[in-house]
Amino acid sequence: MKVRAQIGMVLNLDKCIGCHTCSVTCKNVWTSREGMEYAWFNNVETKPGIGYPKEWENQEKWNGGWIRTKQGKLEPKQGGKRRILANIFANPDLPEIDDYYEPFDFDYQHLHRAGESKHQPVARPRSLISGKRMEKIEWGPNWEEILGTEFKKRRKDKNFDQIQADIYGQFENTFMMYLPRLCEHCLNPACVASCPSGAIYKREEDGIVLIDQDKCRGWRMCVSGCPYKKIYYNWKTGKSEKCIFCYPRIEAGQPTICSETCVGRIRYLGVMLYDADKIEQAASVPNDKDLYQAQRDIFLDPFDPAVIAEAEKEGIAANWIEAAQQSPVYKMAMEWEVALPLHPEYRTLPMVWYVPPLSPIQSAVEAGEIEKSSVLPDLKSLRIPIKYLANLLTAGEEQPVIRSLERLMAMREYKRSQQVECEENFEVL
Ligand code: SF4
Ligand code: SF4
Repeated sequence: MKVRAQIGMVLNLDKCIGCHTCSVTCKNVWTSREGMEYAWFNNVETKPGIGYPKEWENQEKWNGGWIRTKQGKLEPKQGGKRRILANIFANPDLPEIDDYYEPFDFDYQHLHRAGESKHQPVARPRSLISGKRMEKIEWGPNWEEILGTEFKKRRKDKNFDQIQADIYGQFENTFMMYLPRLCEHCLNPACVASCPSGAIYKREEDGIVLIDQDKCRGWRMCVSGCPYKKIYYNWKTGKSEKCIFCYPRIEAGQPTICSETCVGRIRYLGVMLYDADKIEQAASVPNDKDLYQAQRDIFLDPFDPAVIAEAEKEGIAANWIEAAQQSPVYKMAMEWEVALPLHPEYRTLPMVWYVPPLSPIQSAVEAGEIEKSSVLPDLKSLRIPIKYLANLLTAGEEQPVIRSLERLMAMREYKRSQQVECEENFEVL
């Protein structure tokens, strides 16, 4: 057993309101400079949607990502460093600026100079890259949320009645959710493995993955290698950059900016103790369906005296062991089993986990589609299909998602019953 400590995060998707405060505050602190206009160390995507950059989940599209074998298994597209070096001048599948979206500002002067028009005021978008005025904004990471515009655009179609019927017919089956994303500070980081300059490293003390800006040579193999597409090339400095998990704040005992400013209070930070000897085995289990369990098996019980003794031997500070014992990440991922990893099939062993959204179940209860007394009687009536959440969080395994939702539902029922008691007591008083 080789005990290591890692800082991680759990995000409760049930509470995310998609306000983007996390993204904006992160941007203001870490990427508000030339060369990084398009970069969001933290972004909030609308799901289902193609995400940011576009289609980042399509692992077959990106060089350095993963390919599906004839047997249907996902395997790394590149076979180790030597292959990567041979490919260095052929790193063609990097996302381009259009895959992120052209960053824009508004030409506020236009408000003063604008002639009369039907709708006032009108400020034209202006490209932050070329400085030119844009006719329209082509795409954004939350585009799918406003696809209602499709409906308006097609009003003049000859068969509009049919289109209308189709859209309304499907409306009750539509669903959406928000997915805030940041670097996963993986236990088995593909970015570290793919960097030919050895510029990316994982800190021994807390597992935060960083890029040494003095060593980075701008090959961008990390950009194509990261399956979560969470490394950005700074076109001004010619170096790659990524989320630093606000390490100067963590070192000072403060939370990350995104956690501190989160309006929905959805983010939980915590320390996990894990067995570094099990990483290779967990990343290479043959079947995707075993990946979620394999990743859980790496984590160690922070109350186990043998683990504590080993941690002390490895030089892990007493306050970190204590932090692991109080860790909400440990509680939600391991004890309560309500938090799940994002795309474990990428096999980088991510350390930002998610509680699946429960709201759809609640709306089904309120609509009378699910009986309040039974927790999950009919999964088909759920607004967000279990299969969709399972493909996002457990490599397709539905059981852990169902267990998580059941527990969340039970907790909600319990809390609501407590509230009723309170109200009753209040009346008596
Ligand atoms: Fe590296 Fe990507 Fe994992 Fe972050 S999410 S540690 S950039 S592989
Ligand atoms: Fe969601 Fe919190 Fe970000 Fe708002 S600040 S979008 S609630 S994660």
